[in-house]
Amino acid sequence: PRPHPTFRVRPLTCTETRRGDQQVVHSLGDGAVHVSAARHDATFGFSAVFDAGASQEAVFEGSGMRQLVELAMDGFSCTVFAFGQTGSGKTYTLMGPLGQSDTQPASPALLGLMQRSFTCLLEQSRSRASDLALSASYLEIYNEQVRDLLSPGPPCALPLRWSKSRGFYVENQLSVEFESLEAIVSLLLQGSQRRRTSAHALNRHSSRSHALLTIHVRSRAVSAHPAPGQGWGAQGLSAGASACPSKQGTLCFVDLAGSERVKETGSSGELSVEANSINRSLLALGHCISLLAKPRGKRTHVPYRDSKLTRLLARSLGGSGITLMVACISPSSRCLSETLSTLHYASRARRVTTRP
Ligand code: ADP
Ligand code: MG
Repeated sequence: PRPHPTFRVRPLTCTETRRGDQQVVHSLGDGAVHVSAARHDATFGFSAVFDAGASQEAVFEGSGMRQLVELAMDGFSCTVFAFGQTGSGKTYTLMGPLGQSDTQPASPALLGLMQRSFTCLLEQSRSRASDLALSASYLEIYNEQVRDLLSPGPPCALPLRWSKSRGFYVENQLSVEFESLEAIVSLLLQGSQRRRTSAHALNRHSSRSHALLTIHVRSRAVSAHPAPGQGWGAQGLSAGASACPSKQGTLCFVDLAGSERVKETGSSGELSVEANSINRSLLALGHCISLLAKPRGKRTHVPYRDSKLTRLLARSLGGSGITLMVACISPSSRCLSETLSTLHYASRARRVTTRP
């Protein structure tokens, strides 16, 4: 299967409307997006396009996110990543307005793909006749350092290693078990608050790091017969169950830091160091994607090692994973060049095929 690029155009914000920005991106229905501005007139095709009026629920149902959750429960490695310019709606799509305000809980209608997936996961795990163990880990990549967002104390950099059996992995990464929606949402909140953000011209709460929240789903089919010599108590059940083949799936949510040009955002000093390392890793990601998009025979070596981000995404991008991409864009005329580059990026990614 191919990843499904899903495209979401957010509404113009109050600020954009106030200063008279024109809406230059329109959805034509049937997966077509039309960009029209002074010297540009182009149409792009995607599997799904959501325009300004689309609800969070419509995005969850229409993007294939529900199927992705089910595949993760069946033992596949699934990834959803949101990309696009700073301020284009990535965090909103993944988490809803929760990403912005920590005082008031968001209204249920505004919850993003993450909370909706958690609900779906927990509902399914209750209804399936298998014994599921769920745990979560949450990392950020900030200035090319991997940090654990769940471990208490000041963030410290964790080493990224490679092994033949596991591929790239983060050493000493904390993984926290959860059983309820409240527990996982609270982990998400805690972690998100520790994420590195800085205010700049395009977005008051701009994420300055790439964040990866991974849900690990371990399932054991519940055995009808306890292992020999075991009773039917809770212990006997788990001993019997462990004899059955177990499945391990993952569901990873990637909130990429925004692509941006240093000039436009008024970044300087520390901010421009951040912007440069964000741009460098997004460039590495783009490079891997365009190589992966070539037919297998013509493909040269894919440089996953060029950035921490591409190392961590190696499996979901090219290997055995299933990936849903959500390209987020602003409809504003001021964002035209970034919008076109997001569209090209997504069109390339469309051609990548994986073998789950
Ligand atoms: P990003 O994470 O891409 O930098 P955000 O998700 O923080 O961008 O969104 C930028 C602003 O636009 C926020 O104020 C957010 O609430 C608003 N916004 C984004 N997408 C939508 C949408 N689909 N509907 C309404 N407001 C949105
Ligand atoms: Mg964001």
